[in-house]
Amino acid sequence: MIKFNQVYKRYPGGHEALKNLSFEIAEGEMAYLTGHSGAGKSTLLKLIAAIERPTSGAVLVNGQNIRSIKPAAIPHLRRNIGLIFQDHKLLFDRNAFDNVMLPLQICGFDHRESAKRVRAALDKVGLLDREKVNPIALSGGEQQRLCIARAIVNRPTILLADEPTGNLDTEYSNEIMNIFKSFHQVGVTLLISTHDEGILRQFPARALHLRKGELQA
Ligand code: ADP
Ligand code: ADP
Repeated sequence: MIKFNQVYKRYPGGHEALKNLSFEIAEGEMAYLTGHSGAGKSTLLKLIAAIERPTSGAVLVNGQNIRSIKPAAIPHLRRNIGLIFQDHKLLFDRNAFDNVMLPLQICGFDHRESAKRVRAALDKVGLLDREKVNPIALSGGEQQRLCIARAIVNRPTILLADEPTGNLDTEYSNEIMNIFKSFHQVGVTLLISTHDEGILRQFPARALHLRKGELQA
């Protein structure tokens, strides 16, 4: 499902963010990505979503090689990947429902089918009764859950989350992790970057540990 083979990523300017990474994540697996700030966690997630391309080596996602993927094939790849990234902000000029609707508008579903999917996504993160609320009025934990609803409304088979509990206290973090666990239970493949030791202990799963761009055994 996700396979890296001898992957290097060098950013313009010469900084080598990832060095000789080889690993696989099986379909339906939940795994963590750990390591200090700057270790390369975001870069690794961006390669999977074809936001960045590897400098060398193969990144295979659902059989597609990201190194050589044609721009026209990227929207289809992304429809299968839900992204929960810190720079994907909620829009405060519309309510919670319309924030989750956004990815579907791009896909051209009819309104009634879209509305059904939006409500199903809001239901999964426990925000069905908050659909009319502007996200600015939601708590930090609720905002993060809304980001998750937006990421899964397309029913992706892969979910990538970059420090999804970064700014949340333990109670909210556990809520988020329980939501991820429920996706894992229905067969979604999850890769979650974190340096929250509490979460690693409480929700154990395989951890890929990066150190200065290299995978540690
Ligand atoms: P340092 O650079 O300070 O020696 P490390 O890079 O070894 O730190 O570890 C960074 C963080 O990742 C630490 O909080 C550590 O507990 C955690 N960690 C270290 N090794 C692993 C591993 N194999 N799997 C998961 N987490 C790890
Ligand atoms: P992490 O998510 O573990 O904090 P990143 O993947 O964001 O790590 O960054 C890994 C390294 O690559 C860092 O040294 C960072 O400064 C560098 N880096 C990240 N993005 C870019 C970029 N767009 N251009 C140049 N260097 C970058």
